Formats: sequence, C-alpha cells, structure tokens
Amino acid sequence: MLVARGLTKEYQSGDHRLTVLRDVTFDVPDGAFVSIVGPSGSGKTTLLGLLAGLDTPSQGTVSLDGVDFGRLDEDRRARLRGEKVGFVFQSFQLIPPLTALENVQVPLELSGAVSVREAAARARDLLTRVGLGDRTHHFPQQLSGGEQQRVALARAFVNEPKILFADEPTGNLDGATGERIVELLQALNRERGCTIVLVTHDVNLAARTQRTIRLRDGVIVEDVRHEPPAPIAAGAESSPAATAASA
Ligand code: ADP
Ligand code: MG
Repeated sequence: MLVARGLTKEYQSGDHRLTVLRDVTFDVPDGAFVSIVGPSGSGKTTLLGLLAGLDTPSQGTVSLDGVDFGRLDEDRRARLRGEKVGFVFQSFQLIPPLTALENVQVPLELSGAVSVREAAARARDLLTRVGLGDRTHHFPQQLSGGEQQRVALARAFVNEPKILFADEPTGNLDGATGERIVELLQALNRERGCTIVLVTHDVNLAARTQRTIRLRDGVIVEDVRHEPPAPIAAGAESSPAATAASA
C-alpha cells in the first residue's frame, strides 16, 4: 500500500515562492490501477516523483508498505526503489551508449538476482512484448520517440516491481502503439498484480484505469472510481446484482 499524506511541494525562485503541490492526501491499495490527470503544469510529474521516492516533499509524507521514505537516507531510499519501484520517465532517460537490450537488462544485472544470461533472456522477452523484438541491438538514438518509450517501459518492469509509475506512457505513441502499451499495462496489473500509477493526458487511457485522480493547480479536485466493465454472463461475482441475490 502506498500512502501519501499532506504532500506539499514548494520551489523558491529568488524571493518568490511557488507552491506546486498543496496538501495532497490519498492511498493506493496494492494491486490498484490509478491514473493522475490534470492540465499541463498542475503538478502531475512532481507528484509522481514524490510518490516514487525520487524527490522529497516540502511537507508531508509518502510511505510504501509502511516504510516512510522521509525517514530513509538516500542510499536506503535507492535500495527500496530498486526492490519495489519501477519508473518510466516522461523523457525516457535511456543510456545512449547502450543498446535497447542492454538498457533493459541493466537494472536486472545490477540487482544481482539472476545471471547475465538470464537477464538478457528476460530483457529480450520484455522487448518482444512491447513490440521491439527486432530492435534489440538498436541504440536509443536509432529509435523513434515511441520506440524509446517502449524500451523505457520494458526497463521499468524488468525487475518485476511491486509498483510501477509511468509519466505519460502513451504520450509519444500513435494510436495502435499506444493501445499496445495500454494492454501491456493492464496485463501487468491483472496477471502480475503490479500496482500501477500513471500520469496521462489521454482521457481514453484514464477511463481504462480503475480510478482517476484529477489535479488542478497542485490540489486534488476529483478522485473517482470507474465502474468495472459490465459482466458478460449472469453470475459474475463482482456484479452488485449477484451480491444482492446471494445475500
Ligand atoms: P505537470 O507534469 O502537471 O505538467 P509539473 O509537475 O511538471 O507539472 O510542474 C508543475 C509546476 O512546477 C510547473 O509550473 C513547473 O514549472 C514547476 N516546477 C517543476 N519543477 C520545478 C523546479 N525544479 N523548479 C521550479 N519550478 C518547478
Ligand atoms: Mg509532466
């Protein structure tokens, strides 16, 4: 469970103080699939960085599975991120002199959890899943923006994080490729139980998550749960009718 309490983020520029997030409080239960939406400049990227423990709030706390990021020094925070957190940056941040395969493989090798051979196999498998099975030996600059986006997503997931943060994961993709990414995220959430928190401008993508948090000027102005898709057959356990009938 991810818990954010009273998150405020301020930047000082000269004698002017800019409040980018103000008193943001919410919980993300394990296995949830949450989207954060809002206009450009509303604080989405800043919030994601705080939630992932990449950045520190001016006030408030973020805790993951009961561990308060603010009580850890940078080394222990980095270790916790390495164990539990995957992050897809809006700007990808791939390592230029490494191939797509090596970029994806690196976090797994660093974790020491598997052999180099196994790391390469897993990285290749993930690249295939994001549709880049034939681009494994390309360097980032030889890939389109959308392809780099997909490499970044594969890299974020290679350690099978408990929670995955993604900043505009379909922002640079055409419709078909974006759809592929959405399906991949849904599969990671459903099949691996990976908690996902993503930032998006795309209303269609937001509608396909379980819950949408809307920011405006650094404040949560809406937090809505989406209806689950209607059951296809009678007797689906989660439908209210079925629950009422069996009660
Ligand atoms: P969004 O992702 O919703 O577009 P951001 O979180 O990137 O918004 O930024 C929110 C606001 O915070 C913007 O007005 C931006 O200019 C400001 N901001 C972000 N990072 C910094 C920083 N390091 N220093 C000063 N202002 C910043
Ligand atoms: Mg942003």
